[in-house]
Amino acid sequence: MAENAMREQMQMVDESRSFAFTTKVDDIIAWGRKNSLWPMPYGTACCGIELMSVMGPRYDLARFGAEVVRFSPRQADLLIVAGTITEKMAPVLLRIYEQMLEPKFVLSMGACASSGGFYRAYHVLQGVDKVIPVDVYVPGCPPTPEAVLDGVMSIQKMIQEQTARPWKENWTPGAYR
Ligand code: SF4
Repeated sequence: MAENAMREQMQMVDESRSFAFTTKVDDIIAWGRKNSLWPMPYGTACCGIELMSVMGPRYDLARFGAEVVRFSPRQADLLIVAGTITEKMAPVLLRIYEQMLEPKFVLSMGACASSGGFYRAYHVLQGVDKVIPVDVYVPGCPPTPEAVLDGVMSIQKMIQEQTARPWKENWTPGAYR
């Protein structure tokens, strides 16, 4: 009798596995968050043009759930900085970052955004991390669309694994406000 009850119970467990799954609240929120990033492109130079091809049908960022490009920081949670940033633009970039929703992420696309590129000049910011906390740097001049996709996937991984981000936690606006 007890054996029958046990068998029935096991059968119910097996059947429930075909339509149900268990997880943690944090994991399901992270899963939803990583698959619905809303990017804000901050394109200032040639990298901005390359970024357009990432959005286009050939590379199709939509496959990663991040095709809803927003031009308002209040509706975006992924800032993609694509191009040269001058000292004059730094406060603007900071303002945009501060207006974005939490939790927010930053992808620095290309040599100029990440390090000033070949502009070793007084008027060019030698990396956007002097102003805002950067999560992923994508190298290249310009980076290939594949590299940008890889950068977005790295951010997705970071979100899913709920990686600690001390560069963001310890970030302060600094002198550019
Ligand atoms: S990294 Fe190269 S392609 Fe990108 S903005 Fe700078 S000069 Fe242009």
